[in-house]
Amino acid sequence: MLLEDIENPYILLTPGPLSTSPSVRAAMWYDSCTWDHDYKNIVSEIRARLLANAGCHPDEYTTVLMQGSGTFGVESVLGSSVNRKDHLLLILVNGVYGRRMVEIAKILELPHLVYEVSENETFDPAVLRDIVHTNKMITHLAIVHCETTTGILNDLKHVSDLAREAGLYFIVDAMSSFAGIEFDIADLDIDFLVSSANKCIQGVPGFSFVICKKSALNELCEHNAKSLSLHLYDQWKEMERDPGKWRYTSPTHVVLAFKQALLELEREGGIAARARRYRDNQLLLSEGMASLGFEAYIAPRLQSPIITSYLEPDLVPHTKQKFIFSDFYQYLKSSGFVIYPGKITHRNSFRIGTIGHLFPDDVVRFLDNVESFIDECE
Ligand SMILES: *Cc1c(COP(=O)(O)O)cnc(C)c1O
Repeated sequence: MLLEDIENPYILLTPGPLSTSPSVRAAMWYDSCTWDHDYKNIVSEIRARLLANAGCHPDEYTTVLMQGSGTFGVESVLGSSVNRKDHLLLILVNGVYGRRMVEIAKILELPHLVYEVSENETFDPAVLRDIVHTNKMITHLAIVHCETTTGILNDLKHVSDLAREAGLYFIVDAMSSFAGIEFDIADLDIDFLVSSANKCIQGVPGFSFVICKKSALNELCEHNAKSLSLHLYDQWKEMERDPGKWRYTSPTHVVLAFKQALLELEREGGIAARARRYRDNQLLLSEGMASLGFEAYIAPRLQSPIITSYLEPDLVPHTKQKFIFSDFYQYLKSSGFVIYPGKITHRNSFRIGTIGHLFPDDVVRFLDNVESFIDECE
């Protein structure tokens, strides 16, 4: 049997790890040396291709790869770029991942302020402007683009305008949006953008990557690190000094899979084409789920194409049966789809991701199975 023919038992409708293509998984078949040219060339190629796909000019931006999951990348940026004496970080929060940045700031003892709104709302430009103008000490502004907690999409444009106007460093956790939604990093004047291998590039988990403005890396990161292994500047310098070399052991198989995933992104037509597929997936899902009687948590104008949260109904729609999430989950899993438990703070909910190696036909099949579940409950 060819490795490419091994079928996964189910499709992951989860926002990372997500379903990958058989060819991405097959790319992990080979062992590599971390110091050999073959491998280091692949690392260098990945760094260059990430910038090219992002539309960032290599004179202005660079990419640093960091071992670990996405959180390691976020912690590496916050810990390396904020000085405890001279800086003040403003963190915008409307979900778990914004709150995680606050946890990082607390544990690293970074001076910080928080502007928090409820999980189904986004930030008010006037309130934000007021916070920035009344706190002249603020130097950095950090936001989560798509809050994977709920699937809400936070607008970057007005935050970017304000950051530019007030001269703030702009940090974006674009973990679940980069390569899945079109936006212009240079135009938004983003200093540090963090994402990871197992989100919209459609690789497997094992490292995060940071698209950094070189000027910000140079100005901030050489002397402010609070961790050796998450030292963003030293990791960058090592990858430049000995091209493609990571400071410590890198996830070699994950890197091979990631290169294949990048080639497949380009073959699909780049980020624009992938964003279109995800949007098609999400539109089909939201129309189908609404017509089956499920209520989305996020208003359509704030809903991202990445993941959609549904409130758990008391009864299975159109029936008198109590809705039990674990029954729903098991039914869908045995029909080939794994959905995601909810993360909303005060409501029972579940989530359905529409990213990964997932196509409109799969979404249609998924909806058919949801309908069969309802039919069997009648
Ligand atoms: C996935 C994700 C992260 C990283 O989470 P890990 O558990 O470290 O993979 C951070 N922010 C957002 C918005 C995410 O979707």
